[in-house]
Amino acid sequence: MSLEVVTIPCLKDNYAFLARDGATGTVALVDAPEAGPIEAALAERGWKLDLILITHHHADHIDGVEPLRRAHGAQVWGAAADAHRLPPLDRQLAAGDAVAIGESTGTVLAVPGHTLSHIAFHFPADRVAFTADSLMAAGCGRVFEGTHAQMWHSLSQFLDMDPQTRICSGHEYTEANIRFALTIEPGNEALQARARKVAQRRARGEPTVPSLLAGELATNPFLRARLPEVKAAVGLPDADDAAVFAEIRRRKDSF
Ligand code: FE
Ligand code: ZN
Repeated sequence: MSLEVVTIPCLKDNYAFLARDGATGTVALVDAPEAGPIEAALAERGWKLDLILITHHHADHIDGVEPLRRAHGAQVWGAAADAHRLPPLDRQLAAGDAVAIGESTGTVLAVPGHTLSHIAFHFPADRVAFTADSLMAAGCGRVFEGTHAQMWHSLSQFLDMDPQTRICSGHEYTEANIRFALTIEPGNEALQARARKVAQRRARGEPTVPSLLAGELATNPFLRARLPEVKAAVGLPDADDAAVFAEIRRRKDSF
């Protein structure tokens, strides 16, 4: 594995990620909630920032971009469709584009729903996906701009990835997400076990992100909207996957 990933807590509950390619020493940052903690994480390791990858335009993901760009002369890449509401981009990305951090190669995924032009970055050989506010630990981002069907389609792209993929999502929302998930599947033993493990980690002040896709497949109610037992649990045994996802998302919105 050549991509070394560092999780950096920022602001109140955001995460940014540094990803360093071992072969070349190239360092990328995924999202920039604020510069301070990211500068500290770079300094601690003696790293210089080469590249900033942006997932979506919300302020808590981009407010640190300009100071970091200035300090490091880093390239800034983000979605072409969001160029009008992102900091100036050195490269405009679209779904399916190849992205490289040194010799580590990944792909841009379009994950509309939270915002219309939200993108994710998947590095299959390194088994890591930077998902920000699309797929999250035990949850998913709120659907602000897209439709529930779009968000379901976005999330369904993760179903077939290697279950050992690390899901690097944008916020520490896991405890609240699990409290909600237990209202959908109170009898899910993997979910109950995850609740205990997450509570212990948070009590020690540790991040619960990244999480493993395998754990999301076993416990995340949004990814599980396609399963007969989850459809039955929300009273929609015959509905299609997207409709069940929409019902679970609506319940979460008012939880
Ligand atoms: Fe957001
Ligand atoms: Zn966010």
